[in-house]
Amino acid sequence: MKTINLKAKSSSGDHYQVVFEIDDVIKVTCNCKAGIFSKLCKHKTGIISGDRNLLYDLTEEPLLDELMMIMRRSGYNILSKELIDAQKDVETAKKQVNKVKHKIEQALQKGIPMTIDN
Ligand SMILES: [Zn+2]
Repeated sequence: MKTINLKAKSSSGDHYQVVFEIDDVIKVTCNCKAGIFSKLCKHKTGIISGDRNLLYDLTEEPLLDELMMIMRRSGYNILSKELIDAQKDVETAKKQVNKVKHKIEQALQKGIPMTIDN
């Protein structure tokens, strides 16, 4: 098994350790508050996406490059695309909500036609 350790910047100026255990599968852990509960934290996703600005120690850049090569051979991009698609769906739904709210605002201002006879 191969292990790649990268230090990701934290918002406090300190850093978290993002660890990649590479075998026939790739496991990723981070020791931040969310990461220790196996949550998808920005350190994991940032490092996986190759964000150099997230590196706490720039001497680890070659390791990040090596990791990028390895990640390309994994199924992560399929999962990542699924997340991006879901986020686009949320954006589309938000736009629709705003459109309907605007329609209701207009209707309340101009008057709503009475359609039901009592
Ligand atoms: Zn984290």
